Amino acid sequence: MKKPPLHIGEFQIYWLNGGSFRLDGGTMFGAVPKVLWEKRCLPAPDNTLLFTNDVLLIKAAQHALIVDTGLGNKLTEKQLAIFQVDSPWSIVDDLAKIGLAREDIDYVLLTHCDFDHAGGIVMHNAQGEEELSFPKATHIVQKNEWEDVEHPCRRAQSTYWPENFSCLKRKGHITLIDGDQEVFPGIRLRLTGGHTRGHQLIEISSQGTTAVHLGDLFPTHIHSNPLWIMAYDNFPLEVIDKKEQYLKEYQKKNSWFTFYHDPVVKACTLNSKGHPDQIWSLAAE
Ligand SMILES: [Zn+2]
Repeated sequence: MKKPPLHIGEFQIYWLNGGSFRLDGGTMFGAVPKVLWEKRCLPAPDNTLLFTNDVLLIKAAQHALIVDTGLGNKLTEKQLAIFQVDSPWSIVDDLAKIGLAREDIDYVLLTHCDFDHAGGIVMHNAQGEEELSFPKATHIVQKNEWEDVEHPCRRAQSTYWPENFSCLKRKGHITLIDGDQEVFPGIRLRLTGGHTRGHQLIEISSQGTTAVHLGDLFPTHIHSNPLWIMAYDNFPLEVIDKKEQYLKEYQKKNSWFTFYHDPVVKACTLNSKGHPDQIWSLAAE
């Protein structure tokens, strides 16, 4: 096992603590029977499993980008208890350890806007007021994802929380894109759909090496089987199709797959059978 940063040509990738929480094991594996998934990750007596919300920091010579924003620091006592948050959001401190301030982040790339990915867009400052966590950043979201934030369906109302977007709407630091787009050379966004209508992936490529962040299409290394998807997916058949397509495409390039919700494995490659091969972990060697 190796430790971050992961070097992708000119880019360095770090994982920042966006808070960890516990979710019902069944919801994370959809229709997969418990007798199968519990062999890979043993649940607590209340059937929950621990998941991280690891914000990716991508450092380039002229830029600092983050992918998603974690749970944030606005959760109420009740929410902290419901989600059994045991490691609070510490993005600002984690950035400082790498020599960066939150004002140094110039892009926030949002895979989608569920609360566990968008919770850190807006933070409480020392006075308890809401402000943008990354005040100088352009926040890039797919257009149809943002339409669903503004007009959530019945199910999405419980996961697109208005307080996560308040300052963003007021300050206009958002860029909506429609489909695939290059942010700058080496960083590309691709609309995937599946988990949500406007879910997108982030492709990082430089000097012949590639990493891809599939967000909630590939939340942990345990989900490498295309049929192992989450009950939270809004369009499950689309997730299976797209995931199969992307796993093959990026495996052929010997790409790294980076993870947001995996408490142990932060990135891996896949072998020709689609199983995790090389592994990056934060665990001590
Ligand atoms: Zn998620």
